[in-house]
Amino acid sequence: MKLGIVGLPNVGKSTLFNSLTKAGAESANYPFCTIDPNVGVVTVPDDRLKALGEMYHSKKVTPAVIEFVDIAGLVKGASKGEGLGNQFLSNIREVDAIVHVVRCFEDTNVIHVDGSVNPLRDIETINLELIFADLEVLERRLSKVVKAARMDKTYAKELALLERIKEHLESGKMAKSLEVTDEDELALIKEYNLLTYKPVIYAANVSEDDLADDGASNEMVAKVREFAASENSEVFVICAQIEEEISELDDDEKAMFLDDLGLTESGLEKLIKASYHILGLMSFLTAGEDETRAWTIKIGTKAPQAAGKIHSDFERGFIKAEVVNYKDLLEQGSLAAAREKGLVGMEGKDYVVQDGDVILFRFNV
Ligand code: GDP
Repeated sequence: MKLGIVGLPNVGKSTLFNSLTKAGAESANYPFCTIDPNVGVVTVPDDRLKALGEMYHSKKVTPAVIEFVDIAGLVKGASKGEGLGNQFLSNIREVDAIVHVVRCFEDTNVIHVDGSVNPLRDIETINLELIFADLEVLERRLSKVVKAARMDKTYAKELALLERIKEHLESGKMAKSLEVTDEDELALIKEYNLLTYKPVIYAANVSEDDLADDGASNEMVAKVREFAASENSEVFVICAQIEEEISELDDDEKAMFLDDLGLTESGLEKLIKASYHILGLMSFLTAGEDETRAWTIKIGTKAPQAAGKIHSDFERGFIKAEVVNYKDLLEQGSLAAAREKGLVGMEGKDYVVQDGDVILFRFNV
């Protein structure tokens, strides 16, 4: 899973990205390493894993990970090829969701590209570029479908949809706020892979002083919240500068530092959890002496496909899944004890995996 960080220049994207990757590097043990300097692998905080790892005396505890991509360079005119515009826009096509960093802090030392701090104007600037880029995609598809529809009536429906999306975008709205009427339309709109159809999390970058009350006394944040609500997006209040400082601390220092700020969780942790959630993802766990590990799946995934995340052989040869909720397992202290109490289920291929399931797969090779 991949999230792209976008925003105007000088709003704090790199600062946020650096703190994310540093925090990720600290917790090590993730199965991939960073190849591209603009891509960072971040672990998903998960208290369950630690407890399970201790119970099993696991040699290795491997959390789930998310990739963040720093997509710098999205500026006014990007869709017209300004700067390296189009290249950045194509980077955004590859991500599952967008983290849109918006500057909500005043600092005369940090220049704003448009001369003043105004988060709503900034959001509009970026969103318009995304809309323009999508309009191009739509125009290309439209010209094909118009021709096809002359020969083949089945294209009429797609034609109508394309025209509706176009009108929607031209009125300045994002594709994700368009109401689709049925499954066919939904499938089509997904297929276009529009930038403005991707889920967005707005990260309101505030000054340190605004952190304690989660930006409640910052009028700019209030405006961002109001706007985000209108398109069903979430807002996260962060202070990128503080996150960067926090990312350099060890766990104990971090807890103290957060406590001083009146917080229980860093902004990054909140952001990572939220991204997981917004993408409809969850984790199931595998536990053992060698490794205790969290695996990312989409909510609603069935047991064989979940097994396939571990190895394709597990999916192909799937027989059944031995499933126990991690809480029950921890309370009982061992799988054997949980089995004795009847807390371990033998599930077949139609079982829908639940968040926090600890699973032992049985399969043929
Ligand atoms: P980018 O162009 O969006 O990647 O922005 P940067 O992360 O490079 O930040 C631009 C400038 O703003 C840098 O000098 C940062 O130190 C500063 N900056 C970033 N976040 C904050 C913040 O939360 N508060 C303040 N006062 N400055 C910040």
